[in-house]
Amino acid sequence: MSATYNFCAGPAMLPQAVMQKAQSELLDWNGLGTSVMEISHRSKEFIALTEQAEIDLRELMSIPSNYHVLFMHGGGRGQFSAVVNNFLGENGQALYLVSGSWSKSAVAEAIKLTSDSQIDSIDIVENTNDINKVVIPNLKEINKDYRYLHYCPNETVDGIEIFDEFDSPWPIVADMSSNIMSRTIDVSRYGLIYAGAQKNIGPSGLSIVIVRDDLLSLPCLPQSSIMDYRLAVKHGSMYNTPPTFAWYLAAEVFSWLKGCGGIAAMAETNLKKAALLYDFIDSSDFYTSKVSVENRSVMNVTFYLANEALNSEFLNQATQAKLVALKGHRSVGGMRASIYNAMPIEGVEALVEFMKDFAVKNS
Ligand code: PMP
Repeated sequence: MSATYNFCAGPAMLPQAVMQKAQSELLDWNGLGTSVMEISHRSKEFIALTEQAEIDLRELMSIPSNYHVLFMHGGGRGQFSAVVNNFLGENGQALYLVSGSWSKSAVAEAIKLTSDSQIDSIDIVENTNDINKVVIPNLKEINKDYRYLHYCPNETVDGIEIFDEFDSPWPIVADMSSNIMSRTIDVSRYGLIYAGAQKNIGPSGLSIVIVRDDLLSLPCLPQSSIMDYRLAVKHGSMYNTPPTFAWYLAAEVFSWLKGCGGIAAMAETNLKKAALLYDFIDSSDFYTSKVSVENRSVMNVTFYLANEALNSEFLNQATQAKLVALKGHRSVGGMRASIYNAMPIEGVEALVEFMKDFAVKNS
């Protein structure tokens, strides 16, 4: 039986090897005769797991020692509010760059939680002839004392990625929910990085926060204890009961990634996978991309059929061919192939073959 390839944007496929390991130790983890999800988060075995997870993540991403690594609740959106609540007390101001759906949602949440004039935002996507391109404004010309600049380097819905490592006069807060660990980055460029887990890390609900020590002394707004970074640091991300099973799976994903040669090796494969798909889309009149070449997401490849009347048929036949979850987000339509770290190159090859065949049969 041939494999099913799952192109879901999230919750996304996890590495098969990790799922098999989890299955094999589901009822008896670490020789305890019980599942990892049925033991105390404060047991020495679970604490050892969390310590190893942090060591592995620090090694994978080369996280400097003046950064804390937090394992938190509430996915990506939880961090939309956590960042505001933790950093914008005493009328602090922040600048948001808007490059698509998720950064727009982050602004909406920030505005909801603050009072007038605390949040500024700049739309950084230019659309020319239906092609979207990111243009980073000259930030040095902005004479304001922001606590942070927020942006989303990979817009999961729109398929727009920002590769430009621009300088910012203010600490950068980056929502890396859909591209964390997909390529190497210099963590020291950022004040805070956050990511919902359900793409490149593990199951949904969990989020990872990597925060520079000095930001924790910024004044905060009144907030719930479980989203308070200082409390999370103080209690080793265990102020309350953490999502232990998600944490365990994340630890397994980190270990798998190390076994694959780390992020640099994964990034090479990711580039190959994305190139396969984009090169084919560009070579065909049947499919189009609406993202300029320099901003094409390596993780979320959005594309459109020239004849949109064929969309349902495309999706039906793809599902029959075991290529699932290719429907684009409802807000933008079209198709989206999410090809995170866990997607093997064979999955992308199978998708390109299917798309070729579908084009020939329907042209
Ligand atoms: N930011 C980005 C870039 C995302 O892709 C998502 C989810 N797809 C979110 C934030 C929101 O994450 P969650 O649904 O876990 O709150």
